[in-house]
Amino acid sequence: MLLTVLGCSGSVPGPNSPASGYLVEADDFLMAMDLGNGTLAELQCYCDPFLLGALVLSHLHPDHCADFTALTVFRRYHPKPSKDPKAQRLPVYAPTDAADRFARAYAPDATELATTDLSDVFDFHVLAEDTVAIGPFKVTARKVDHPCEAYGFRVSHGGRSLVYTGDSGPCDALDELAEGADVLLAEASWTHEPGRPTKLHLSGRQAGELAGRAGVRRLLITHVPPWTDREAVLAEARQAYRGDSRLVELGDTYTV
Ligand SMILES: [Zn+2]
Ligand SMILES: [Zn+2]
Repeated sequence: MLLTVLGCSGSVPGPNSPASGYLVEADDFLMAMDLGNGTLAELQCYCDPFLLGALVLSHLHPDHCADFTALTVFRRYHPKPSKDPKAQRLPVYAPTDAADRFARAYAPDATELATTDLSDVFDFHVLAEDTVAIGPFKVTARKVDHPCEAYGFRVSHGGRSLVYTGDSGPCDALDELAEGADVLLAEASWTHEPGRPTKLHLSGRQAGELAGRAGVRRLLITHVPPWTDREAVLAEARQAYRGDSRLVELGDTYTV
């Protein structure tokens, strides 16, 4: 599998990166994971968006899905689409009510909303705690600890595994997903200090501890907001996890 970082800024876009978004590729199949603010621009640097085979959304906070409305415009109104978007609706795997919420975000008024359910160019699938085949991948989704319906994913292909935490505080589901993974792409939104909210995000230390408990081969840290000290987050993670770890940056690619 090839992982490309389309955006890695946490909570909001930052000066050096869009918000969360990743491209996972194998056997000429392209799957996007999350599509936060600014990631559609970056996606176009790597591929024709009409060639996406699937889009998987961890949850519906804007920093993980805000560019969905832009993708809707792209698929509906591009004058020369490389594939007919109505004949090849994009499979979208997302939490409950995503179709309705995206339609409301897209339509400016009740009149347009009444004629817009987005099913003309998208094929919505509601995520559940399950393993589904998406193109050549097996994708296992588990609910994680975040204030809304949110999922972490384990993407498997050819005996290799990539685990993405989405947004989550420490929880058993993350440990189970990450067990023995080749690559753990873990959010770390802040440094480890007393008084941080629980069931929301990981600190650098907690991301490192997760990687250590799960025995992963490589830890990639992402979702660091522009107001957080990136190097402090990485230092914490490295204290807790002695394996290979690094902060991802926009445009990075990793072979899993
Ligand atoms: Zn987030
Ligand atoms: Zn979130």
